[in-house]
Amino acid sequence: MSDRINVGIAGATGMVGQYYVHLLQNHPWFKVTYVAASPKSAGKKYADAVAGRWHAPGDIPDSVRDLTVEDANDVTRALGRCAVVFSAIDLDKNAMRELESNYAEKGFAVISNNSAHRATPDVPMIIPEINPSHADIIPAQRKNHGWSSGLIAVKSNCSIQSFMTPVHALIRAGYPIRRMIVSTMQALSGAGYPGPSGLDVIDNVVPYIGGEEEKSENEPLKIFGSIENGRIVPAASPLISAHCNRVPVVHGHTACVSLEFERDKPAIDKIIGIWREFKSAPQDLCLPSAPHQPIVYRDEVDRPQPRKDRDAQGAMAVTVGRLRKCPVFDIRFVGLHHNTVRGAAGGCILTAELLKAKRYIG
Ligand code: NAP
Repeated sequence: MSDRINVGIAGATGMVGQYYVHLLQNHPWFKVTYVAASPKSAGKKYADAVAGRWHAPGDIPDSVRDLTVEDANDVTRALGRCAVVFSAIDLDKNAMRELESNYAEKGFAVISNNSAHRATPDVPMIIPEINPSHADIIPAQRKNHGWSSGLIAVKSNCSIQSFMTPVHALIRAGYPIRRMIVSTMQALSGAGYPGPSGLDVIDNVVPYIGGEEEKSENEPLKIFGSIENGRIVPAASPLISAHCNRVPVVHGHTACVSLEFERDKPAIDKIIGIWREFKSAPQDLCLPSAPHQPIVYRDEVDRPQPRKDRDAQGAMAVTVGRLRKCPVFDIRFVGLHHNTVRGAAGGCILTAELLKAKRYIG
């Protein structure tokens, strides 16, 4: 544990930031040495800054509770204290883009949950089981900006994580997909803390989450895209139609998916086999946060369910079920993942592990 890389969390006091603090305690490769948030939290001990709003499992780790929270906007405060910055700040997109670029320019490897840089052509949007090779755009990114050790990598929107790995497994097995319709039921924690008011969500479903449907339709194409001349060119398919709903579940985004194959249509049993046997770079590289089985298929007719399945494989697996024929497209299924772990902090930690294994950090 002595050679661990020092890491910082910008936005450490928020919903995602707290999950970083929780997941990084006792991490074999990374050690939290720097926490930062808004000016209103700056100067406080971490435990005081999150008093009354700590929502991650267990207690605040002893190694972090007495760290002083810095102002995340003052990049110089991180100098000499960490090499990697996990970004979990909720700020407007222009300010966010500038802030993350400032960190990268000063030499930090920035791994971000924010959507600001997701469309930037030389910034990889990585789901490590799907497009680990997109990390290899980093030399071009560094050259474009004149950064020596700095970099920016991002994760996708959490809404798409419930279906992307199962869909990728089918494409990789030789069954490209033409069109998909996706309806998500997204947990309250996905809106950060304090999130929507209880009066708005208890006994209710809200059929609108700003920007979420556009992200669910566009981001998969970048993830399925390819590196050409120092930029990531999005794939042309699948065409996706998304409906995104906020539901009164605390953690765990569910997606109901109907899809149409481009050519061959695999049998139901064949698809289940593809999903159960699916492994990829994080498993091959034995990354510390990699789920042993990235896709868990449940045979029960009424699974997956958020309360029962979100914690599968350390909350890092996608759980899939209800695979059956579709009378309109070819097949339909239900996918589920833990939005604050796999869809946020855990997903970015896995990306950082991938970048370390590929020697882009550390
Ligand atoms: P959150 O609970 O609202 O936390 C926001 C964090 O940003 C807090 O640490 C806050 O610090 C900090 N912050 C706010 N204004 C700031 C400013 N002006 N300068 C510096 N720091 C500032 O939000 P969250 O759910 O953790 O989300 C964080 C980011 O991750 C967002 O971009 C979100 O879209 C993305 N994301 C969230 C999820 C999820 O499941 N929640 C999933 C994927 C991606 P203070 O505590 O001091 O105000």
